[in-house]
Amino acid sequence: MNIVLIGPQGSGKSTQGKLISDNFGMPYISTGDMFREIMTGTDEFSISIKKMMDEGALIDDETTNKIVRQHLERGKYYKGFVVDGYPRSVNQSMSAPFVLDIILHIRVPESISIERLLKRGRWDDNEVNIRKRLSLYNQETAPIIEYWRKHDKVVDIDGVGGVDEIHQLIYEKITNLINGN
Ligand code: AMP
Repeated sequence: MNIVLIGPQGSGKSTQGKLISDNFGMPYISTGDMFREIMTGTDEFSISIKKMMDEGALIDDETTNKIVRQHLERGKYYKGFVVDGYPRSVNQSMSAPFVLDIILHIRVPESISIERLLKRGRWDDNEVNIRKRLSLYNQETAPIIEYWRKHDKVVDIDGVGGVDEIHQLIYEKITNLINGN
């Protein structure tokens, strides 16, 4: 079973993704992590990726899909995985190189996202970049939820609260889905 995490930046996707990974024994993958690794290179491609990330822009779909496909080919993912940061658009969701079984939608208000991101302080978490990423989320990524809701794939989670409390909600939903409830 492949679980796709969707939510604005700062909704806790990576924290919850890693907990799902630990508690359900499924690998965690993150396109942000893949691109952060690529950007440490010194070749032209790595530099262009770093520039896009620096600006809070999205990497093009063709490159992103290729990176995801290559990553999946290299590991043992046939039993399923939890993915954070992909797809980022309806187009990516429709051209994904894997089946989207569950879309776990973590909802948090924008004010909480911004507060959490500024506290996290990752290298690309300045206020201009954060606002750009959140607006891209609303324009490009959020429509994925409505698209896949029609196909009955979306599970909504209230992402406001403590890490353990939210994980408990997620744990129960996934357990029910695994058991066919
Ligand atoms: P994240 O760690 O998910 O916040 O991603 C960090 C950055 O990596 C984003 O701001 C984008 O520049 C890039 N990125 C990650 N995932 C994708 C994706 N699925 N499509 C395009 N760009 C992405």
